[in-house]
Amino acid sequence: MNITELARKVKITPAELRQKLPELGFHIGKRAIQIPNKQAEKFIEIWRAEQSKQAMLNKIKQKISKTEEKEKQVEKELISIPSKIQVHRFAAKINIPLNKVMNELVKNGVFCGVNENIDYEIAAIVAENIGIDVQPGDEEQVAKVNVKAKINKILKQEKKENLKQRPPIIVMVGHVDHGKSSILDAIRKSKITEIEQGGITQHIGSYQVEKNEHLMTFIDTPGHEAFKQMRVRGGGLADIAILVISADDKIQPQTMESIKIIHEENIPFVVAINKIDKSGADIDKIKKELSEINLMPEDWGGKIICIPVSAKTTKGINDLLDAVNIIIDLNKSSFLANPTGEMIGVVVESRLDPGLGPIMSSIILNGHIQDGDNLIVGNSYGKVRFIQDYLGNKISKTKISLPVDIFGLKNVPSAGTIIKKISSDKEFKKITKQISSIKSSHLFFQEENEQEYKDTAEAAKNTKQLKIILKANKLGSLEAIIHSIENLSTDEVKVKILKKGIGQITETDVDLASASNAYIFGFEVNVSGLARNLIKEKNVKVELYNVIYDLIEFTKEQINKLLPEEVIEEFLGEVKILKIFQKKNKEKVVGGKVLKGKVNNNRFIRIWESSEQGKQSENRELTKLKGEGKITQLQFNKNDVDEAGAGKECGLKIITQANIEPDDILEIYKEVKKQRKI
Ligand code: GDP
Repeated sequence: MNITELARKVKITPAELRQKLPELGFHIGKRAIQIPNKQAEKFIEIWRAEQSKQAMLNKIKQKISKTEEKEKQVEKELISIPSKIQVHRFAAKINIPLNKVMNELVKNGVFCGVNENIDYEIAAIVAENIGIDVQPGDEEQVAKVNVKAKINKILKQEKKENLKQRPPIIVMVGHVDHGKSSILDAIRKSKITEIEQGGITQHIGSYQVEKNEHLMTFIDTPGHEAFKQMRVRGGGLADIAILVISADDKIQPQTMESIKIIHEENIPFVVAINKIDKSGADIDKIKKELSEINLMPEDWGGKIICIPVSAKTTKGINDLLDAVNIIIDLNKSSFLANPTGEMIGVVVESRLDPGLGPIMSSIILNGHIQDGDNLIVGNSYGKVRFIQDYLGNKISKTKISLPVDIFGLKNVPSAGTIIKKISSDKEFKKITKQISSIKSSHLFFQEENEQEYKDTAEAAKNTKQLKIILKANKLGSLEAIIHSIENLSTDEVKVKILKKGIGQITETDVDLASASNAYIFGFEVNVSGLARNLIKEKNVKVELYNVIYDLIEFTKEQINKLLPEEVIEEFLGEVKILKIFQKKNKEKVVGGKVLKGKVNNNRFIRIWESSEQGKQSENRELTKLKGEGKITQLQFNKNDVDEAGAGKECGLKIITQANIEPDDILEIYKEVKKQRKI
């Protein structure tokens, strides 16, 4: 066939055709005028398939809602900043002159060189001040995106003869509420209820079922998040997708997004048209909508397998599994692994159990993990304590594609993170050390230097200290709090901030607080899972706040408690001396009249000389202080009493150095200890 004729047939120019031919694998030479008929026909076939795929993608793209456009806009505006970044790189990333960035850093109390690293938190504050939105460019995120690439790289290195068939990983995708979880449940119940009835409860959201000798792994992507998480969890892991569309609804934005991802990731899929039990169900309407975006259903002459199902009645669930089986048969060569090869696994889900610590639900895609293995999972690490399969049975070794729970990590890793196994203990130690140091430097401001602490400890012998470990969400808040609470220090009680930092309250903070008997104050931060357990165990005092004022008030209260008590005098009454009965050294026995208030036994007194005028009247007119003393006995009508009220005449035994004489006035008071307040 002539090149020009072929170009006309596929509706492009001959020049474009000459360019496209080699791209699609047809090498006929740059100057050729003719192309063999068979090759021309093959080209037309491939070209049309390509065109229809392109048309479908275009339609999908067009149909994606405006909200997604907006989301993209937002995403575009957000600049990703890693957990640590050199100042000059940061300036370049946010496209702001270096000196402006340096100025902002200084304003925030950060003095560092242009080549020094700053933490994400600091970068975020500086960016916010300049008016730029940034987001954390988590290293783990990067790891997630590369899951598939890493797996493929490992598989490429494996010898073909070592590769064995493995169960494919299947994910449910689609719009929220269309029934993804319900179908997952229906499949699980239809296939593994017998085992569960046997008393073994199901532990992990993901599970395996067998149909027609095909073992399949279904992973559960939690509820409404499923769509957003798919790139992370499913996208990296999924071998097959089940696109769920509700028969009583229509193709929705998240359905479109799922289709887009399925195509981009090249994942084979079947469509489950769900909720067919409902009165408003219209299977044909869904098929029509699918055909409009070039997903022509099989029974309408296309290639898309559509299975009407009801998760509620389980109708069609078996057909759905059969359809998945067909896909497995067609793609068998893609689901391979070497169970004894280099280990690679992915975290599907993770959680913290109060008793068992971090639990990582995972799928291993090559090699295996066994008890005692050293694992590095993003920023978490640990030695495998034990492994459970998805039914909760302990197993000593993982199997390819088997959903497992792995116990023994130090922290909870995030879903989608790649799991690495380190066989050399030495190397494992080195890596974990690096991870720990990155983690602690993440706190930005670290412990004060030890000498300073010792010095102040020395000084603290005379002054009391209110020791605080302070963690806040932002540098600005941290600085404001430090400034406010350090200013509360008095001569007697000093506020001593042992450690200040940005980020959540960690085990290290709790350990330090416990060792130094300090409070931990958290401002708009939470407590890490492990730290929470340690707090209870070590009985550490932790105070969490969202309002700075409350934090300051609490600090004041604690300072008040540490202040030495104040002794104040409480006036009780006055007694005029009428008669001196006896004077024996310090001990004097006198008679007097209560002029004011009352007199009590065992109270302190001051002895005042009365003025001439005062002597004549009962008015209080004290002139000169003669001395101080204490009442040791009080009598009324010759009987010992504890108290005598105003107007009463009483006998008193007094211990004093002063020379008491008639007409002197005894001022009676008691000493009361009172909590001081700043
Ligand atoms: P997801 O958000 O896609 O995981 O949807 P769910 O599985 O949570 O289901 C959303 C709602 O639809 C729930 O109230 C389910 O009970 C209901 N649902 C799911 N499948 C069916 C079905 O086949 N028939 C009927 N009648 N309701 C269903």
